[in-house]
Amino acid sequence: MGIKLETVTADDEYFMTRAEVARFRGVAAEDSELLDLLIDIGTETGLRWGELAGLHLQRVDTKRLVIQVQEAWDKHSNEIKPYPKGRRRRGVPITRRLAGRIDDYVKRNPPKRCRARHRGGRRCTGALLLASKAGTPLNYGNMRRRHWDSVAERAGLAGGTPHDMRHTYASWLIQDGAGIETVSALLGHKSWTTTMRYAHLADARWAKVRDIIGGPEPTPDGLSSDAIAEAVRVLAAEPERWAAVAAALDGGLAPNAAPILPPSGDAADGAKIIDLASRRRSTG
Ligand SMILES: [Zn+2]
Repeated sequence: MGIKLETVTADDEYFMTRAEVARFRGVAAEDSELLDLLIDIGTETGLRWGELAGLHLQRVDTKRLVIQVQEAWDKHSNEIKPYPKGRRRRGVPITRRLAGRIDDYVKRNPPKRCRARHRGGRRCTGALLLASKAGTPLNYGNMRRRHWDSVAERAGLAGGTPHDMRHTYASWLIQDGAGIETVSALLGHKSWTTTMRYAHLADARWAKVRDIIGGPEPTPDGLSSDAIAEAVRVLAAEPERWAAVAAALDGGLAPNAAPILPPSGDAADGAKIIDLASRRRSTG
């Protein structure tokens, strides 16, 4: 009888590289501007499908560069809920580039009044950003069948799903050193343990851990950067010793090389070193 270990696998989670997203968007743009914009926003914000489908224009602040994640499309009840999964509203930053693109898109495609059913029969005066021509939320199944799947296949990303955009966002953040708690807040996770599934991607953070555990890595010439910094500090405080080092090094300098000055030495120290160095040159 063995001990059953609880395992967390990430096998079903695929995330795209930046090059893959660029390729995907290139093919998507040929399909439709809406699909390209969906992928652009999806990979830059990590929003869930329901949050993308329920994203109202008034929640996109292109001046302050932030999206307020509030309303979300709920596939079970077929309506817009006034809060996302876990009932936690959150803000997600967007780049100036994406904000400009959204402004431009909205200018050219004036949004229709929101035609989605809102929970509690609330009348919506807003507009959905990523909507059908009629102003209804994007239908996941239709979107996959008519656009996403074939575009993904042509881009060499067959089998990829819209949820991969969220994994992609999380993996980029973790790989570039964003902390688990930051990523957790951005994704709107209720608990850090959910975010921990991305921890194995934290290359940048592991490098930091290796530094702490193993001490500073030696520089190529065998001296640690700490040792060099300490030597410079000592020599800068003691011009006499700096002069001696400068003199010793001078033997290996080209005839017209500039004299070595102490980092914080005054003019007198500098003159002494120049004097020392030139004497060695003339006698050597
Ligand atoms: Zn609405």
